[in-house]
Amino acid sequence: DSTSNLSKLDSSKLQITKIKTPKQPLPNDQLKFGQTFTDHILKIQWNSEKGWGSPSIEPYGPISLDPSACVFHYSFELFEGLKAYRDSKDQIRIFRPNKNMERMNKSADRIVLPTFESDELIKCIAELIKLDKHLIPKDKGYSLYLRPTLIGTTAGLGVGTPTDALLYVITSPVGPYYSTGFKAVKLEATDYAVRAWPGGVGDKKLGANYAPCIKPQLEAASRGYQQNLWLFGEEKYITEVGTMNVFFVFKDSKTGKKELVTAPLDGTILEGVTRDSILELARERLDPNEWVISERYYSIYEVEEKASKGELIEAFGSGTAAVVSPIKEIGFHGKDIQVPLLEGEQFGQLTRDVADWIAKIQYGDEEYKDWSYVV
Ligand code: PMP
Repeated sequence: DSTSNLSKLDSSKLQITKIKTPKQPLPNDQLKFGQTFTDHILKIQWNSEKGWGSPSIEPYGPISLDPSACVFHYSFELFEGLKAYRDSKDQIRIFRPNKNMERMNKSADRIVLPTFESDELIKCIAELIKLDKHLIPKDKGYSLYLRPTLIGTTAGLGVGTPTDALLYVITSPVGPYYSTGFKAVKLEATDYAVRAWPGGVGDKKLGANYAPCIKPQLEAASRGYQQNLWLFGEEKYITEVGTMNVFFVFKDSKTGKKELVTAPLDGTILEGVTRDSILELARERLDPNEWVISERYYSIYEVEEKASKGELIEAFGSGTAAVVSPIKEIGFHGKDIQVPLLEGEQFGQLTRDVADWIAKIQYGDEEYKDWSYVV
């Protein structure tokens, strides 16, 4: 609120306390996703009477909170996930951080946690990255995963508006999601549980959206499927896969025209930055005489029917962690729908093209608009 006299988040007030004995980087092959962290944490306190406090970068370590803090009881928590990449000139590039900041502010607003100026947080994150730059791995597929988090810290058991909050950012050096290249996954279509619903918060990155997804995920795993395909409603619309958005490619057998389709952003779909990037690049780069790009409702029945007519060409999940994740099979009501892959490969043609387009931009081999923020 520009009229209020509460302090704004201000990167120029950043204070840095360095760790005494910095870590040595782990060999690339020992990096497990989200299991090792860099030396420092960025923290910014917020209070409803003062606004945002001075940002500080400190040695990474535990946080101490009152056991009655509202984050522990009523899920006043939200987070983001984005990555920074080392380019061929050893510069570090954050991929589209403004999109994640925008989404973080929308999540914060929904659960009455404080919002902030995106650019100011990006500047603080850039300083955090610079300090731990030596821990950012080189090579294709490797990056630094960034985890901005915002929690309500107000002590007391009343359910109400948090008066205190903590924004923090931790960073984790990570390797490629699939260490041996693409590995196509088998999905189980889930309709007995739903991830999100109209009027709910499925489009916000709230921690509360994630814990209930594990049990259906375990059930799918017990039947040999790696992820859930989340369906919604009587129509059994396809919404997302695991913690990714999902795309299908159909080909009309009469006209030969291909369609790249994903669910529309109707409030039940997490507004993925990778999804957005794929749609934009596909609209720019795929020949409109051959392709239609659609954000529309489509159901598992439509996929089943198209598969039976040979009109299902490809399917892939999209998200920051794996970028694109090819799909080879979908179990639905005891039957398996086969998704074609290129001969002898673990991916389809468009899946691979999209992965290449995005990797080139992320690693700075191609400059594209303002998608890279060089720290
Ligand atoms: N859907 C869900 C439920 C997610 O958790 C994520 C990961 N943030 C995505 C989709 C993909 O979003 P993004 O491309 O921004 O990583």
